[in-house]
Amino acid sequence: MNESVSISIDGWRYTVPAGITILQACRDSGIEVPALCYMEGLVADAACSLCVVEVKGARTLTRSCVNLVFDGMAISTRSERVRDARKTNLELLLANHPQDCFTCDRNQNCELRTLAFDLGVRETPYAPTRRLNRPVDDSSDSIVRDPNKCILCKRCVAVCAKVQGVHAIDTINRGQNTVVSTFGNNGLAHAYCVNCGQCVMVCPTGALVEKSEVAQVWKALADPKKTVVVQTAPAVRVAIGEAFGFPQGTPLTGKLSAALRRLGFNGVFDTNFAADLTIMEEGHELIDRLTHQGVLPMITSCSPGWIKFAEHFYPDLLGHLSTCKSPQQMFGPLAKTFYAEKLHLDPRDIVVVSIMPCTAKKFEARRPEMDGAFRYWKTKLGLTDTGHFPDVDQVLTTRELARMLKEAGIDFARLADEPFDDPLGESTGAAVIFGVTGGVMEAALRTACEVVTGQPLPKIDFEQVRGLEGIKQADIEVGDLSLKVAVANGLANARVLVEQIKAGESPYHFIEIMTCPGGCIGGGGQPISREKNTKNRRMAGIYQADKSLPLRKSHENPSVQALYQQFLGQPLGHLSHELLHTHYLKRGTRTCSDDSPVPPKGNPGAGKEDRNHG
Ligand code: SF4
Ligand code: SF4
Ligand code: SF4
Repeated sequence: MNESVSISIDGWRYTVPAGITILQACRDSGIEVPALCYMEGLVADAACSLCVVEVKGARTLTRSCVNLVFDGMAISTRSERVRDARKTNLELLLANHPQDCFTCDRNQNCELRTLAFDLGVRETPYAPTRRLNRPVDDSSDSIVRDPNKCILCKRCVAVCAKVQGVHAIDTINRGQNTVVSTFGNNGLAHAYCVNCGQCVMVCPTGALVEKSEVAQVWKALADPKKTVVVQTAPAVRVAIGEAFGFPQGTPLTGKLSAALRRLGFNGVFDTNFAADLTIMEEGHELIDRLTHQGVLPMITSCSPGWIKFAEHFYPDLLGHLSTCKSPQQMFGPLAKTFYAEKLHLDPRDIVVVSIMPCTAKKFEARRPEMDGAFRYWKTKLGLTDTGHFPDVDQVLTTRELARMLKEAGIDFARLADEPFDDPLGESTGAAVIFGVTGGVMEAALRTACEVVTGQPLPKIDFEQVRGLEGIKQADIEVGDLSLKVAVANGLANARVLVEQIKAGESPYHFIEIMTCPGGCIGGGGQPISREKNTKNRRMAGIYQADKSLPLRKSHENPSVQALYQQFLGQPLGHLSHELLHTHYLKRGTRTCSDDSPVPPKGNPGAGKEDRNHG
């Protein structure tokens, strides 16, 4: 059998691999064929019918996403018949689509809108055949679904099932009543949804967007009684520039800090400080588990989508999760205790805002147990429950921050670099690499190796755990210990490692799991890009930022050392335990056929609390 075939596209000859689709052949040859439902390797349903081409000898037009090339095939991608068919198919889609572009979150980045413009569609002659007043699902703390803007491409269904292994959404009903929804049509908050936002990243329209908190942040910034502090996560600095014309992956830490100050935040801090702190706590927790017959393998706990996934699907394995809060949730209580005391501020007047690459962080900030600072002051000052406040008040995605900066008219590109504020702004390269899959593992190893051996590492780059593969593994010598570690990104990959544990066959001591493909660089709150190498470029930016820093190991962060001396005491000490560690919930195990009453918003399985630690 030939490994390549000779075809012609629009009269030009090409040699392409045998066995590929016409769509792939065209795109690989530099000819763009429109497709709203197709996603390489995930969906080829031929549902949108926009990818039609004319194949010589065929009586009808051919859907290029599901038909393979053959030797001698003559393809036309732009004949009048093809262009007319594509236009008609798009007009039929638009007949059932609200004309809300002015007010739509995806106004500037909508594949449907762009395609309508590119194909010359300016109006539709067809009458709607579907209802356009279906209720919007805003039950989730992280994601809003508007079924009226849905074109039923099923990309979201595919990514949720195949990349994340969650199956929270699918098509329900038939014919003109078909919609994408949750099991039982109960709303995302009552489904297994882990709030990862990967469905948002692939949606070609505004049918799936993050739940915006921009208005609340503007309100806090305008309140003279409030001290509004902001923290920004590692992966934001290598992605925010995409909204302002910078090449993908450009690290813009200094500009980001300056821009946040221009927005009016009273304190501009780095989540990386808390990432270094996470390593101090998590590294010591690992050493403690290894030396005191603790539950192994220990699994990282800084990715909130993964935490909810484990709570739903593996409630009996929660003891494997590190009890460390994520860096976002370590920063929050420190801002409202340590920082508040230093500046003589009433913690109730501090508003903590996070800038995150992640939609699940919105849900995480609203978990009821994330109120360590309130409990600290309750004991100290006798505050009552009526004055309750969370550790983190608002969470914005990278996209929301970009919108705020544009609304404020801040010329991001022209800002000169500025440092973060003290005392929660100093960080190391180990913290920066939290933003990419393998980074937490590498950061933990940099510290654990030196703490155990008391010797400086000859080489601090652990290349074995770098890269975008779904699962990586390595054997690491830590003093006398031979440590087996694994790293997974994307929850379908995580499932493979957790199933090993469930079967009693896991060879590992320590596992890092990141919810999103590529880790936080590919988070559901990052700028939406259809370019192929986006994650590679952002990953390169993260490692560039790590290399550029004078300190690259978390335990060498002088501000973290000072925090322990002045406030926390020691890693895993009493106050650390109160403020920086948490417990997890055994959530419900409702299935698609379960018609039991809907559980309370945002907390399926509530009432089955399992304090597996502390
Ligand atoms: S999804 Fe796209 S086409 Fe639809 S209203 Fe929003 S911007 Fe306009
Ligand atoms: S947020 Fe994640 S888990 Fe929830 S529906 Fe979307 S892809 Fe699925
Ligand atoms: S919600 Fe978006 S991704 Fe999902 S089917 Fe509808 S248009 Fe496609």
